[in-house]
Amino acid sequence: MASDKHNYIGGRWVAGGSTRPSVNPSDISDIIGHFAEATPAQVGEAIVAARSAATAWGVSQLEARYKTLMAIGDEICARSQELGELLSREEGKPRAEGVGEVFRSGQFFQYFAAEALRISGDAVDSTRPGIEVDVRREPIGVVAVISPWNFPLSTACWKIAPALAFGNAVIWKPASATPAIAWQLAETFSRQTLPPGTFNLLMGSGGVVGNALAASPDIDAVTFTGSYEIGQQVATRAAPNFTRIQLELGSKNPLVVMDDGDMELAVAHALNGAYFGSGQKCTASSRLIVHRKVHDEFVTKLKAKAEALVVGHALDEGTQIGPVVDEKQLAQALDYVKLAEKEGCERVCGGERLKRRTEGYYFAPTLFIGTKNDMRVNREEMFCPIACVIEAGSYEEALQLANDTPYGLTSGIITKSLARANHFRRHMKTGCVMVNLPTAGTDYHVPFGGRKKSSYGPREQGRVAVEFFTAMKTSYINAGAPE
Ligand code: NAP
Repeated sequence: MASDKHNYIGGRWVAGGSTRPSVNPSDISDIIGHFAEATPAQVGEAIVAARSAATAWGVSQLEARYKTLMAIGDEICARSQELGELLSREEGKPRAEGVGEVFRSGQFFQYFAAEALRISGDAVDSTRPGIEVDVRREPIGVVAVISPWNFPLSTACWKIAPALAFGNAVIWKPASATPAIAWQLAETFSRQTLPPGTFNLLMGSGGVVGNALAASPDIDAVTFTGSYEIGQQVATRAAPNFTRIQLELGSKNPLVVMDDGDMELAVAHALNGAYFGSGQKCTASSRLIVHRKVHDEFVTKLKAKAEALVVGHALDEGTQIGPVVDEKQLAQALDYVKLAEKEGCERVCGGERLKRRTEGYYFAPTLFIGTKNDMRVNREEMFCPIACVIEAGSYEEALQLANDTPYGLTSGIITKSLARANHFRRHMKTGCVMVNLPTAGTDYHVPFGGRKKSSYGPREQGRVAVEFFTAMKTSYINAGAPE
């Protein structure tokens, strides 16, 4: 990527007020490119363009929407190797995970292309004679999409695809750490025939672009994925206008390991949930709640596996764990190690920055034992490859500990007992529950979201996505008698 990359506003590429470099976290001497930072005036221009496009796109033929979304989905899937490599270079996850994320992003477009054709309503008789009632869904208008860096493409695509499928115009503000992969999606859109302004890319800082979108009375809905703290700010800005909001936020997901569980499975799933993606997943297992009877065996086995993980350059063959995304995340991880030790936790492995052949933000997969659920390391989202083991004396205690958190995105249990698995599934206050599976890893055709401080508003993904991206209209028709 040689020249500066611009924003895409109203169907045109537009330079920003300034640019920001995108830096490869595996090798900070590798500058991926320089990306436009939108000015406040350009946010206004994008809103005007999107409002005008929303009128045309909102009444577009269903097959036009189907074809556009399917073409984008097919292209993204077909280019998953190339785009996945770019995603990994920019975000730091190993190549296979980058390719997987890109492919999944394409699948969101393919899935919602078909959903565009399936939108349905109700036709019923009124309680009054001679009157019919027609209940249908209409687009809401202009949707602002604000997305994070950890799944820089998929979190955005699972919002952009349904927004467009159901007839809305989109303004996308991606995370500042990952503009290169965002720009590629905009480039794909720029080759489609759409009313100008139907899809807009606004790179730039959250404080300028994100804030302005959330606060604008001309935005009909804001769908946000990111931290709880920023989500709260988005909600506060949107509230005076009664702008519709959907927030997918932080987490503190528990994986419960029972004494009757398959120990190899427990260790493999804990390893996956706690460390893959450098622990930078909203679905990561940061609390490992382990039955006292199997605690020592579990810890010994997990330590051995964690220490054997290959941490390295995201694009190197054999890398299992890439760097964390930037210097801030690295500093945060090191601070949490200090905090854990101050709180009296015992470090079993990891806890330090690693040196590799290139200078990057490498951090060793870290395990703490002797931790209590009320410690800050078990209350706050750390968003790095650090896991804490909490001992439990019984299933009941494990369930209580698992639910004792301000968050509620995912949870998991490793057990061979159908009764425990079923009870856990029914009593966890989380949006997703995994039985004998890692807490991370979800499908694209079913609802996704959490409870408590993890989510606000209607669920994302699957058929229920229609709830957020449409407005319902109830019409009463008195056709009269034929002459
Ligand atoms: P973040 O700091 O909250 O940022 C998220 C997005 O909000 C970015 O695009 C950011 O822009 C923007 N932003 C920043 N300040 C803003 C403001 N004042 N108004 C409006 N937008 C603003 O989160 P992150 O560090 O990118 O991502 C990690 C977080 O995302 C974690 O908490 C993780 O759990 C959460 N997450 C949740 C889910 C889920 O489905 N529940 C999925 C993935 C990630 P800049 O980049 O320019 O700051």
